[in-house]
Amino acid sequence: MRFFLLLLCFPLVSLAQEPASQRIRKHVQFLAADAMKGRGTGSPENAKAARYIEKQFRRYGLAPLGTNGYRQAFTAKVRRVVVPDSLRPAENVIGFLDNGAPYTIVIGAHYDHLGMGRQGSSLDSLPHDKIHNGADDNASGVAGLLELARHYAKNGVKEPYNLLFMAFGAEELGLQGSRYFLNNPTLPLDKLNFMICMDMIGRYNPDRGVGIGGYGTSATWPDVFTGVTSSIKFFTDRAGNGGSDNAAFYAKQIPVLFFHTGGHPDYHKPSDDPDKIDVDAEKHILDLEITLLNRAMQHPKMTFTPVK
Ligand SMILES: [Zn+2]
Repeated sequence: MRFFLLLLCFPLVSLAQEPASQRIRKHVQFLAADAMKGRGTGSPENAKAARYIEKQFRRYGLAPLGTNGYRQAFTAKVRRVVVPDSLRPAENVIGFLDNGAPYTIVIGAHYDHLGMGRQGSSLDSLPHDKIHNGADDNASGVAGLLELARHYAKNGVKEPYNLLFMAFGAEELGLQGSRYFLNNPTLPLDKLNFMICMDMIGRYNPDRGVGIGGYGTSATWPDVFTGVTSSIKFFTDRAGNGGSDNAAFYAKQIPVLFFHTGGHPDYHKPSDDPDKIDVDAEKHILDLEITLLNRAMQHPKMTFTPVK
């Protein structure tokens, strides 16, 4: 009977660890709802998003690795537009999966967006007081971060690397959360192997495919990618120094990969809404990331290569 039950339960357990489109949808719908008012840096809704992420990290059993529990607070500065309150409180949310390994892989996504269009960089012609939901940018990436955290925390495998899951604040103000972490790291930077960044992974276009930047940032990446297949289309790009928080890690000579489904007419506009996210494609993107991560973990700590 016991044997029979084990047989019956095993496939259910292993399926439960896989990224699932319905959980991706739930995270995106929460973070990019109108009630979240675009998660502008310094807003109560931005703080609410941080609480949501912390709650999931705690639920998955990740250890806190901020400076105050899971949080690493810093002051962000609005520079692109003149506002009376240019200094704003911001936080990174940091959870650690300790596998007792000497080196650590960073998986990151920013959770802030443009708020009510008064912090600059909106592409709407009259952005003020419009909710910039930021479903693709970057509730989609945070959903990916949470699903990868959940997967690695619950898979019952002790990987040969530790995993550091980071939700960055104030990316839209110029990578301020990731730069703050790198200048005030909560573990030694020379213990970091590489960084995986997700920013805008919710608008998969089958003609384009998902772009994976940073392929040239270590001579190991070509080995990692050799023979990898996926149900979704993907292409690599050697450059790793643009697009999102990965650029801050690249600047510290840490190899990176950057996942991105590409630009669209709703980019940085109030119309970047949750119902436009392709959660099924995102699930397959996350499956591909897990394949690449697992293969990368079979290699020794990578050496950084600058991309000309
Ligand atoms: Zn973004």
